[in-house]
Amino acid sequence: MISRNAVQLAPNFQFSQSSLQDYVECKRRFQLRYIERVAWPAVQAQPVLEHEARLVNGQAFHRLVQQQLLGIPENRLSPANSDLQRWWQTYLETRPAEIEGRRFIEITLAATVAGQRLVAQYDLIVITPQTARIFDWKTSARPTKPGATERLFERMQTRIYRYLLVVAGADLNGGYALTPEQITMTYWFAETPNEPVHFPYNSEQFAADERVLTALLTEIQMQALNTPWDLTTQEKTCAFCPYRSLCERGVEAGEIHAEDEIELASPETLDFEQIAEIEF
Ligand code: SF4
Repeated sequence: MISRNAVQLAPNFQFSQSSLQDYVECKRRFQLRYIERVAWPAVQAQPVLEHEARLVNGQAFHRLVQQQLLGIPENRLSPANSDLQRWWQTYLETRPAEIEGRRFIEITLAATVAGQRLVAQYDLIVITPQTARIFDWKTSARPTKPGATERLFERMQTRIYRYLLVVAGADLNGGYALTPEQITMTYWFAETPNEPVHFPYNSEQFAADERVLTALLTEIQMQALNTPWDLTTQEKTCAFCPYRSLCERGVEAGEIHAEDEIELASPETLDFEQIAEIEF
């Protein structure tokens, strides 16, 4: 049972991959950002202009792909700068989602887990009679450091996107629930277009995701009111967190490079998630 001294989430609070990723990386960051809603105007990463330009370009790339998938003729879509042009060219040469099936573009799915609403916005889902393919566009390169694929597999995005498609995707499949074994999630990287990462799903992973998500959402609801939640022990993370001076974890922003970034699609993630794949 949840104590009266436990945190009260707003009735309309929605959990997402980005907020849960915040929580698993640093409970205090989740508390500051989503419970106390503290705005702390620190520079998030250096070099600032380059970092911001990549965020803006990432959004623009997602818009281009979305428009192309919606059927706007490609010759009417014009990338505004050289980075976008390069990504757009590799996308057109690779056409990573060129498979027959019903397409659902920029669709949101939601379900209740541990009494809380959990939502995900997908770049693209393609449903065929036998399969359901989730596509997620990244404007970074495929991460190559040791253990990078395993970390991508463990990320909240991978867990939540595949899980929610099972529990909330029946409407996309003529009213029939999809099985985990039908689902594959693909991360496609604009800087390394021929090296996508595919994560097929199965019942065992689905059961594990349900346990993990239920435990996390239950734990968050049991966190104490009015006391600071645990600060991360991974202090290198703090260099890229806007709350670092508030937490007395440094002043200078960490330095980020394009090859370290995994850029994510939805506007809600245009923040810490942009650099969350930095490998320490
Ligand atoms: S500065 Fe570090 S400890 Fe503080 S909220 Fe950010 S990640 Fe957590």
